[in-house]
Amino acid sequence: MIPYGRQDITEDDIAAVIEVLRSDFITQGPVVPRFEADLSAYTGAGHVVAMNSATSALHAACRAVGLASGGLLWTSPITYVASANAGRLCGAEVDFVDIDPDTLNMDMLILAAKLEAAREQGRVPDVVMPVHFGGHSCDMRAIGELASEYGFRVIEDASHAIGGRYRNKPIGACEFSDIAVFSFHPVKIITTAEGGAAMTNSPRLAERMRLLRNHGITRDAEAMTGTPDGPWVYEQVELGCNYRMTEMQAALGCSQLTRLDAYVARRNELAERYDRRLSGLPLTPVARPGLPDLAACHLYVIRLEAGLAARRRQIYESMREAGVGVNVHYIPVHTQPYYRALGFAPGDFPEAERYYAGAITLPLHPGLTDADQDRVVAALERALEGV
Ligand SMILES: *Cc1c(COP(=O)(O)O)cnc(C)c1O
Repeated sequence: MIPYGRQDITEDDIAAVIEVLRSDFITQGPVVPRFEADLSAYTGAGHVVAMNSATSALHAACRAVGLASGGLLWTSPITYVASANAGRLCGAEVDFVDIDPDTLNMDMLILAAKLEAAREQGRVPDVVMPVHFGGHSCDMRAIGELASEYGFRVIEDASHAIGGRYRNKPIGACEFSDIAVFSFHPVKIITTAEGGAAMTNSPRLAERMRLLRNHGITRDAEAMTGTPDGPWVYEQVELGCNYRMTEMQAALGCSQLTRLDAYVARRNELAERYDRRLSGLPLTPVARPGLPDLAACHLYVIRLEAGLAARRRQIYESMREAGVGVNVHYIPVHTQPYYRALGFAPGDFPEAERYYAGAITLPLHPGLTDADQDRVVAALERALEGV
C-alpha cells in the first residue's frame, strides 16, 4: 500500500537517537532545549516550548492565554478534533467558523461577520484558533487586525505547516498571533514520533506553558510564594500536566529539522506534478498560495465534482484495492457525536460539509517517488472510469 503520509528516517536520525540512549539523560537533559533553540532559529519566534504532542501544546497554549470555563474558542470545522478539543479541555465553549472552499481555511468574510454578530450579542470569543489546512497559511494579518479590534487571543494550529511561509516569514514566527503550534506526528512534515511545540514571542506565555508542561511546578525561587527552606524545594503553583518531550524525541527532531526545507521543496514538487497529471479529470485540486507565501504541502486533497461526490466511497475503495492508501481529511468536527451532544448538527457549516462529501486525500510525502505517484494517478483514473 502506498501510504498517504509516511516519515523519512535516515541513518543520521538513528545515530542521533542512539547517542541520547547512551548518554546520562533520556528525559529532562540538554537536547530538548537544543531542539527548542533550533526551532526558534528556524521560525524566528523568540520562545519555543517543546511538548509530547501538538494536542498537549494546544491545550497548554489555551490555558496560557487564560482560556477557562465560561470562555469561548472558535476554530475551523475542517481540522483534526484536537483543535476544538483544546478549548473543551479548558472547560470552554467551542464554536466553528465555516471554511473558504478555495483554501479550506477559516473563511475571513464569515469570521468578520460572525464577530460583528457576536459583539452585538455580547459574546465575542476569547480565543480564535486558525488552522493552516495542508500547511497553507490562513490570512494571519487580517486575523491579527480582527484580534486587535475585538480583543481575542490568536493561537495558530500550525500542525500541518512547519516549513511553510507567510508574507515572506516562516509560519510559526507569530508576527500576528500569540502562539503557534506544530505537530511532529509521523505523517506531518518532520517527526519526533509523537511530539509538538509551541512558538511565541511572549516570554510570559512561554513561562506559563513551561509551567503547565511540568505539573505547574517551579524550581525558580523568584516564582515561589515564599522563601524556600532549602535548595531542594520546588513549589506547585498551578495545576499542570506532564506534557514533556523526551530527549530521544528531541534528538530525532533536531536531526529531522536539518532536512525540513528539502522535504517541503519535494512536497511542493510532487504537488505541482499532481496538478499537471490530474488536469482534465472531473475534480478540483485544492489551491496553494503563490510566492512569497509557500505551503508546507502536508496534504494533497482533491474535491470530486459535485455529481461524483455520491460515488466518493466507491472511488475510495477502488483506490485502496489498487494499493493506494487514500484518506479523507477531515470529517467536519461539529458532526462528531461528542460535538453533536453539545448541540451542533449537520447543516450548521455547509461549506465544510459540502467539501467533506467530495474530498479524497492522495498520498504525499517526501519518500513518494515519481513512479509511485504515477501509480496513484493511474489508480485514480481507473477508479473514475469505473463509476
Ligand atoms: C495532527 C494534528 C493535531 C494533533 O497533533 P498531535 O501531535 O498528534 O497531537 C492537531 N491539529 C491538527 C490540524 C493536526 O493535523
